[in-house]
Amino acid sequence: MTTQSGHPKPGDSVSENTGGGPLPNTVTIRGANALRGTVRTPGDKSISHRALLIAALAEGTSVIDGLSNGDDVARTRNAIAALGAEVTFGANGPVVVTGGRERLHASAKAIDCANSGTGMRLLAGVVAGLPGRTVLSGDSSLSVRPMDRIAEPLGLMGAPVNGRGEHCLPPITIDGGALRGIEWTPPVASAQIKSCVLFAGLAAAGETVVREAVATRAHTEEMLATAGADIRVEADGAGRVVRLRASRLEPHHFNVPGDPSQAAFWVVAACLVPGSAVTVEHVYAGPERIGFVAVLQAMGADVAVVPGPEGTADLVARFGGFLDATVVEASAIPSLDEVPVLAVAATTARGTTTFKDVAELRIKETDRLAALVDLVTALGARAEIVGDDLQIEGLGAPDRLAHTKSESRGDHRMAMAATVAALAGGAGDSVIAGFEVVATSYPGFLDDLHRLSGPAAPSAAIRDVGAHAVAPVTNRAPPTDPAQRVLIAIDGPAGSGKSTVSKLLAARLGLERLDTGAMYRAVAWAALERGIDPADGQAVAAIARNARLEIGWTDTRIDGVDVSTAIRTPEVSQAVSVVAAIPAVRYELVQRQRRWAVEHGGGVVEGRDIGTVVFPRADVKVFLTASASERTRRRRDEPPGGVARRDRIDSTRAASPLAKADDAHLLDTTGRNVEDVVEEVLTWI
Ligand code: C5P
Repeated sequence: MTTQSGHPKPGDSVSENTGGGPLPNTVTIRGANALRGTVRTPGDKSISHRALLIAALAEGTSVIDGLSNGDDVARTRNAIAALGAEVTFGANGPVVVTGGRERLHASAKAIDCANSGTGMRLLAGVVAGLPGRTVLSGDSSLSVRPMDRIAEPLGLMGAPVNGRGEHCLPPITIDGGALRGIEWTPPVASAQIKSCVLFAGLAAAGETVVREAVATRAHTEEMLATAGADIRVEADGAGRVVRLRASRLEPHHFNVPGDPSQAAFWVVAACLVPGSAVTVEHVYAGPERIGFVAVLQAMGADVAVVPGPEGTADLVARFGGFLDATVVEASAIPSLDEVPVLAVAATTARGTTTFKDVAELRIKETDRLAALVDLVTALGARAEIVGDDLQIEGLGAPDRLAHTKSESRGDHRMAMAATVAALAGGAGDSVIAGFEVVATSYPGFLDDLHRLSGPAAPSAAIRDVGAHAVAPVTNRAPPTDPAQRVLIAIDGPAGSGKSTVSKLLAARLGLERLDTGAMYRAVAWAALERGIDPADGQAVAAIARNARLEIGWTDTRIDGVDVSTAIRTPEVSQAVSVVAAIPAVRYELVQRQRRWAVEHGGGVVEGRDIGTVVFPRADVKVFLTASASERTRRRRDEPPGGVARRDRIDSTRAASPLAKADDAHLLDTTGRNVEDVVEEVLTWI
């Protein structure tokens, strides 16, 4: 990260005045630099807190990969150590926790939860089951957040909780001991209250029941079930009923996915800054957590959810024009964590957006309702609190946002939302003070911003996108003007002229080109090379998922090996159609192809299913054919019958067979020269 005072350098989006801590206390953000590339947000905070607490309670040694590196989670990690769990961790490796009821005890020293309301409420449920008194304290912002909502159920279960004043403000004391199960309906939809009661229920006699009128995030239930707890969840209208009995938890290997509420900042930024295209990889995609995507889609944003393994997804967002106002029901984003950044989106939109029933925002890290009204006003738009609703009258276009100086008020999400507003607000500099608080949840936020908006961004993702440019003609940053970005799909059977046509077409238009056939060929080559049967779906899909693929203009590499020639041998030509018929292989490669297009801002993509499956909304689709004899002549390097055999497999397989899209232009290249064909295609663009 570059550190400097004053103003951002050209081509960069940020400069900062460091305060000596992990993040600067004041940053200057420059607007209008497109964000491009792939990013991974820190491990999900909610899942990280719960993984630590469950590991502390589990009888044995658990391993946690991908734990959030934010300060909030570090506090919970320290807390379980203070309660007697053995915790080992290094800079970037997994955290190893040895826990169990025998080891755990009340803490003699007060446990400092700093800024973390989640940490305090969940810990309270755990210490309620430990005999003796534990004190939980927090920083100035946490010290004014009410704990009465957990004090009440824990008291009824047999663990009195005391704090300051009528709302039981921190520091709080919890006198843990023998607990009994209760039936509890939290007065407001809150995963923290539910989880607190469930953690206490793990040590309570009899059954503990939590009824939710509106379903909140289900991590605690899901993770407790995985750890072997005696837990049942029933749907109940719009809500749920969770039933739990005292349980012995088993140690577990947790793999924490990326935090979707942090992903929301990049997704919204990509939707607001012209020319942007960002993929946020491997985020947790539970329905209660990615509701913000549907909100953005309702506003007309170009955001897609590409499902991945184990309930995760990649979120692919690009600037696709200005947004329209919408009505956001609180149930669409139950934690309300994404309201600050969605409010920035609403400030740019055409019309008045209403966030319904969001009074709960008053008791977050700061009074977020008041803070949002101030931010929106400073950006030059009108915001009003009407009853429990927040209404924002948008300005109609992102670059109408004023550049301003704002203050985080000790709230990490307000600081990051203000950053997104600054990026969206056209050319100009905005200043954000109190920025250091972002370290509580996202210490690498500025590093990621540098990478996405810096000059190196277009090539930053070569690692895994399956394509990079090697020819001089493409050796330039992709066009950032959305009007220039175009995606052209070229499909057709072997020998129809796809490669020759797409190369010349891409060169004429100054676009990147992707040969998807080379991707399938490289995977087939790797399978043969490793002695794997090309029909072994699982093993070949693992190659497609994990290999490093670099598909250049003329050369192809897999895991660093140059296979440009090797993938054209008869053996690979023979195996490739078998490999390409495996749905899991197609799934992996199609994801890479879509990501490639996002990161390169369009391009010319050739294959078999580009216009039908990979990019059904391509700007121009071309389906090339040629007579069988001409195609065989063009592919003389293949053994007799090879081309016909491939065509047969490619056209008859169940998974995305070779087919002409209804809206594709059909072009027979028999007897025609390539310039001619390209001229004709250019007339359609
Ligand atoms: O284009 P090329 O002939 O090099 O493609 C090799 C093989 O890869 C095809 O015969 C087909 O089996 C597979 N392929 C595919 N889908 C694509 C591109 C290629 O199934 N999009």
